[in-house]
Amino acid sequence: MPKPLLLGCIADDFTGATDLANNLVRAGMRVVQTIGVPNAPLSAEVDAVVVALKSRTIAPQEAVAQSLQALEWLQSQGAQQIYFKYCSTFDSTAQGNIGPVSEALMQALETDFTIATPAFPDNGRTVFKGYLFVGDVLLNESGMQHHPLTPMTDANLVRVMQAQCKSKVGLLGHKTIAQGALAIQQEITNLKQQGVRIAVVDAVSNDDLMRLGPALKGMPLVTAGSGVAIGLPQNFGLLPTPQASVLPTASGLQAIISGSCSQATNRQVAQFKDSGRPAFLINPLQLKGSWQDLVQDALAWAQGHLASGPVLVYSTATPESVHAVQSQLGVEAAGHQVEQALAAIAAGLVQLGVAQLVVAGGETSGACVQALGVDQLQIGPQIDPGVPWCHAHTPSGGLHITLKSGNFGTDDFFTKAFTTLSQQP
Ligand code: ADP
Repeated sequence: MPKPLLLGCIADDFTGATDLANNLVRAGMRVVQTIGVPNAPLSAEVDAVVVALKSRTIAPQEAVAQSLQALEWLQSQGAQQIYFKYCSTFDSTAQGNIGPVSEALMQALETDFTIATPAFPDNGRTVFKGYLFVGDVLLNESGMQHHPLTPMTDANLVRVMQAQCKSKVGLLGHKTIAQGALAIQQEITNLKQQGVRIAVVDAVSNDDLMRLGPALKGMPLVTAGSGVAIGLPQNFGLLPTPQASVLPTASGLQAIISGSCSQATNRQVAQFKDSGRPAFLINPLQLKGSWQDLVQDALAWAQGHLASGPVLVYSTATPESVHAVQSQLGVEAAGHQVEQALAAIAAGLVQLGVAQLVVAGGETSGACVQALGVDQLQIGPQIDPGVPWCHAHTPSGGLHITLKSGNFGTDDFFTKAFTTLSQQP
């Protein structure tokens, strides 16, 4: 029987879950990320689990229901503290879902106080006097005011959160944070006496987050972006150690699947091809009708190259080319067909003996993970900020996999990834 979990996390989207898991590993915790709420107990002994939901923009009552289901499972695994993770730009609509989910978790945990802060100074997200900055500008001047699903037009998080909550929302200001854990705990007592149930917390540096961490010891629920995670493992007596990120030794053939069309991925594909490594282009216009043929062609091609090193199968294209495809196939149909084809190729490559797989693209990752039958990922060493190697058990055996969201990673990411994995202790 594995030891009870220290930290149980609920993330409102998939790549956000990986981001949090990565921060926890770097702070010394052994972490598994699950895709959705598992229907079985944990198989490995870890310190934290991050349950990845897709609840950011669904209806609030559905987001609440899924989050409560995740909570129930985490509690059944003995989780000592719960962490609700949302985006570092506080992505939410006027209805939620950050507020409603936070309040529902508080009620289920029978707790009358929690914090809320998306601060993640390493990524330029800072909160001061309750206002969220993205780099040097306020949230509502950062481009996020134009987001298609969650336009953020107010940078004052106390106001934003209050509009989503029935409970009273207050501010735990920087003056207090700068004084350390004792002062923070005192201020929490004061805020509670004033009837505040959720306090937005200022933090402008990692030092602030490290001062906040000890004050959160024993708090049943923490709600935050991934930044706050760096200060929590110390509360459980854990310190940063490379041991937390050790995965089983990698073996098997190497491949890259790329369905991301973001600028960074375009550069990564170009650099991989320039280095002389083999690459196979999936042209979405050829996918109409019998896309299975193209999948078979790609796999037959890969079979001829895999023995001599990593191969790349990609649909990555420039914005103009994507636009041309979308105007012929339709935006959704193009995306879906490419995802299905790349996911089938990923599954076929694993059948051919690929056991080290890089996947580029958030949606592409979702489709590949599903096709591979992966539902739990053990988080390993970081390749680039926000992108760790992971290890999964698939019906075909052990698999090392990394899921890179669009704009992450340096230009040499595709080759660097395999070097990072081979160098782990
Ligand atoms: P990112 O993380 O960069 O946003 P995603 O995988 O989330 O990458 O999204 C890329 C989307 O574009 C996917 O739906 C994918 O299927 C689609 N796509 C990939 N290549 C092409 C292409 N050449 N033309 C049109 N759509 C494409």
